[in-house]
Amino acid sequence: LKYTEDLVKIKKLHNQVQEAKGNIRVFCRCRPLSKEEISSRYSTVVDFDAAKDGDLGVLTAGSTKKFFKFDRVYTPKDDQVDVFVDASPMVVSVLDGYNVCIFAYGQTGTGKTFTMEGIERNRGVNYRTLEELFKIAKERNETFTYSISVSVLEVYNEQIRDLLANSPTSKKLEIRQVSEGVHHVPGIVEAKVENIKEVWDVLQAGSNARAVGSNNVNEHSSRSHCMLCIMVKSKNVINGECTNSKLWLVDLAGSERLAKTDVQGERLKEAQNINRSLSALGDVISALANKSSHIPYRNSKLTHLLQDSLGGDSKTLMFVQISPSENDLGETLSSLNFATRVRGVELGPAKKQI
Ligand code: ADP
Repeated sequence: LKYTEDLVKIKKLHNQVQEAKGNIRVFCRCRPLSKEEISSRYSTVVDFDAAKDGDLGVLTAGSTKKFFKFDRVYTPKDDQVDVFVDASPMVVSVLDGYNVCIFAYGQTGTGKTFTMEGIERNRGVNYRTLEELFKIAKERNETFTYSISVSVLEVYNEQIRDLLANSPTSKKLEIRQVSEGVHHVPGIVEAKVENIKEVWDVLQAGSNARAVGSNNVNEHSSRSHCMLCIMVKSKNVINGECTNSKLWLVDLAGSERLAKTDVQGERLKEAQNINRSLSALGDVISALANKSSHIPYRNSKLTHLLQDSLGGDSKTLMFVQISPSENDLGETLSSLNFATRVRGVELGPAKKQI
């Protein structure tokens, strides 16, 4: 019983801290210059002098430095463990019954997949989060029983594809509200998982299905949102209390604007859908920050799916991914402006001239 009381106390404290800080955190991560950028002698426009305080400087045209403020700034030297350490309190929240959404936003090639999925032998937030989820669930097993299941979805051209279904393209999936604050996609596969090995198999199956039917997997992934949904049912074996919570882990489509001349036919439709869903995400978060009476969740499949996990009691963590290269300056500023809007903190124009 003492253990449960302690957990309740910790949960209260954790939430007080969260409330004081607000429920949306924005972390900025900058990748290293690529080999091609180094050989093209592109310079770095990002400065990390005050990164430890969450400040990021960007050298804009005319040699003016613009400053941005985030909850955390990762330099290219920070590794996957540094990033996960800051994301890990979210795992505790999910097991405590809160809905959580962690997503990576940014231009294609800035490290969204690196942060979320990671690479072989250097796993990202998805794998580490699930590993931690099972670890804590095991530590709590005298007081709680947990049942965990995973769905893997892709949103492409405003259509939801279930990547765990036998034939992912055949079914038209829609979102339904099943009760107050609970949305569901009927017919979707929810794979029950008991350990991290089983999760890994599910993630692999999802990523194999993603490749089916596309000539260029990288291009396809940069134009679709990849969404993992982890559903956690918990039961307190001492007092019988049950909770249901969701953790969304989302690798968003690339935020870059295509040059007008490049965009025709199918590409135009894709670009419009990406633009629409990313703007809808920004609008939902702004409406939440402004405590607006109407939150426009229904404006895109992305925000509609995330509805239970954006706003209310839920906790949101955004990674804004950027490139350090002068060549990407326009997209970098546009991503940082989007992230600033999400964080709800507008800093004035240039603070310092160099
Ligand atoms: P995105 O998903 O945004 O299109 P990727 O995750 O595919 O971008 O990253 C593009 C390339 O940059 C990949 O080769 C990736 O391994 C590399 N990369 C991204 N972020 C980092 C980082 N923090 N450290 C080292 N390499 C990185």
